[in-house]
Amino acid sequence: MAKFRLRYAPSPTGFLHIGNTRTALMNYLFAHHYGGDFIVRIEDTDIERNVEGAIESQFDNMDWLGISPDESFLKPVAKYGEYMQSKKFDRYKQLAHDLIEKGFAYKCFCTPEELQVDREVQEAKGIVATKYNRKCLTRTDLKEQEGKPYNIRFKVPDEKIIKINDIVRGEVEFNTKELGDFVILKSNGIATYNFAVVIDDVDMEITHVVRGEEHISNTPRQCLIYSAFGWKEPIFGHLTLIVDETKKKLSKRSGNAMFFISQYREQGYLPEALFNYISLLGWSPKGEQEIFSKEEFVKMFDEARFSKSPSTFDMLKMKWINHQWMKKMDESSYLEFTKKFIDSNRFDISKKDNDWLNKVLLLFKKELEYGEQINNHLDIFFNDVAISEQTKKTLSTLSDYENMIKDLKEGLSSLDIFEEEQIKTIISEVGKKHNKKGKDLFMPIRIFTTASEHGPELAKTISLIGKEKVMNNISSLV
Ligand code: GLU
Repeated sequence: MAKFRLRYAPSPTGFLHIGNTRTALMNYLFAHHYGGDFIVRIEDTDIERNVEGAIESQFDNMDWLGISPDESFLKPVAKYGEYMQSKKFDRYKQLAHDLIEKGFAYKCFCTPEELQVDREVQEAKGIVATKYNRKCLTRTDLKEQEGKPYNIRFKVPDEKIIKINDIVRGEVEFNTKELGDFVILKSNGIATYNFAVVIDDVDMEITHVVRGEEHISNTPRQCLIYSAFGWKEPIFGHLTLIVDETKKKLSKRSGNAMFFISQYREQGYLPEALFNYISLLGWSPKGEQEIFSKEEFVKMFDEARFSKSPSTFDMLKMKWINHQWMKKMDESSYLEFTKKFIDSNRFDISKKDNDWLNKVLLLFKKELEYGEQINNHLDIFFNDVAISEQTKKTLSTLSDYENMIKDLKEGLSSLDIFEEEQIKTIISEVGKKHNKKGKDLFMPIRIFTTASEHGPELAKTISLIGKEKVMNNISSLV
């Protein structure tokens, strides 16, 4: 069996987002599961729409996610030709003219203005003109057109059924009567997507074309080109949509979800977590487990398990998966990672002891969903904080704690060593003396010492806030 070769073929019209990452990822998993190659090719024929920096940014984010290509314009293999369509214009042109010679294509001299006039004439007759009227197929004044610019159009057979066996959808049928004679080479000499994509897939010996469902309507056109050249078609697979909570296609306008990979990266999501969650969009493993590494995904990938219905992008699930991956980090990686997200405008760590800072950050290792969230927890360790209205309310529901807090204050202020052990002893002594346990003991103490009703291990937190600040906190509330 030929080596599997799959590709991700972005147009450099934008940045890496959840949708195109899913396409890249599925191709990566599919290829690597079968020991094949994952190729990235740049489809930049739509020159006006190209966005500066988009290619570099896509490669950078793919590398970060761990879906680096085996071949690309940065790692080319000579026999497969160029990995960027803008470098292949001559080849497309040559092949478009070959199709004219073989009788599969023809020159079309109609200008956009003429096409518009023709459409209006048809519409006036009540005909909705969706297809090219084939004027140039039967033109008798070809001599007069000589030297004028022309498009090359593919001559679509009148009524032919085209079938594909789609990996995701099974058998799909198209009738060519729905298609107009489409342009394969524009008058400026540039090939269109439907033409270039076929030539590239053949040149690169692509075995499987896995892409988003928005391309399914292009597929019959591409099949016609394969057949005109007598080339073997690849296997096609069209992945179902990723939708947002409102069931609309996920986009940069989707309210609750972030769209671009760079946004996740900036907020402190882990590449492993994005890889993990995006692999579960439109594909699912057997069983209930949801946390998998890249290697596990490669191993268990199975093209029979693509989902046939749209998948909803769930931001809560994304956060949960990131949280799981953050919990899995070893302490030193967690510390190195989290430090990058501390907001230096709010928290000046430059003058702080590194061991102390590490201990503070580790308090939240089991809590953080993503890196930037660390900033929600640091105020109490760095700044003077006021107790919130909500916490005041909670405090007002508690009773009979005043004397206990007085004793706590005395006990803590007498400590020379302000460490977890000693603090625990004081807490347990005041608890015994005032006959308080559980919430009745810990809630008032937590509120008075940390100005908050929630938080990680109490004695450790008190010790890391430091004696001076804790004493101030208690005094300001008493
Ligand atoms: N360049 C196309 C896109 O960005 C991909 C087409 C394909 O995979 O065939 O959507």
